[in-house]
Amino acid sequence: MILVLSLVATSMAAPRALTVLCYHHVDYARANPYNISSQQLKAHLSALKRSGFTFVTMASVRRYYQQGSVLPSGSVLVTFDDGNHDAFTLAWPILKAMRVPMTVFIYPTAICVGHKRGFMDWDDVITLSRAGVEIGAHGFDHPYLPYPPKSVITDEQVNAWLKRETLGAKNYIEQRISHDVTTMAFPFGLISPRSAEAIKKAGYQLAFNISGKNNSRLTNPLFLNRIMVVNTDTADDVLRKSRKDQ
Ligand SMILES: [Zn+2]
Repeated sequence: MILVLSLVATSMAAPRALTVLCYHHVDYARANPYNISSQQLKAHLSALKRSGFTFVTMASVRRYYQQGSVLPSGSVLVTFDDGNHDAFTLAWPILKAMRVPMTVFIYPTAICVGHKRGFMDWDDVITLSRAGVEIGAHGFDHPYLPYPPKSVITDEQVNAWLKRETLGAKNYIEQRISHDVTTMAFPFGLISPRSAEAIKKAGYQLAFNISGKNNSRLTNPLFLNRIMVVNTDTADDVLRKSRKDQ
């Protein structure tokens, strides 16, 4: 019976199961295509809720891909990249009030600089982590992973650089927040076979691009698709993108 069921499952196209939205800034002072207003954020989340989507935690996405557990159909994971201070001061209270689980992908060099450059500081990140927000890595320095800096030339240097950007970021953040870091978002959504290998070797369980697609059971958990949300996106745009087949 199990064999028959698995044959049926593989003969059908895998249905869309999970939408992952990628936000950056909320009510940021400077014009930026990745900056949306808090009203827009509320409108996006309300429209998804009204239309029957279910907001899920990173933990349930991890169980879905690692243990084969079930996700509600039309699941949505909300992520914020870069560790911007406004994601802490403005987005988080909105998500909390609407009971929407949050994931934040941060990189150590930004958080070490903190508020004076518009980023969260480590106290903010620790507050989020203790409140149940998933903290993931976004590289160490937010690099273009497929393109090492000019000073990184030999094979050995490339490996050491990739190790710092993947395992190094994971270890550093884990130490600062005293919590496991098992998820990563590729900076700029970019990845190469070599950097993908480094991410796998570093022990990440889930990793995310920005392909604009949705995900199914068959999506590679180290290459999960995200949809970038930009400042021209209305609630209808977000609904349309979330309903799109992969
Ligand atoms: Zn980024």
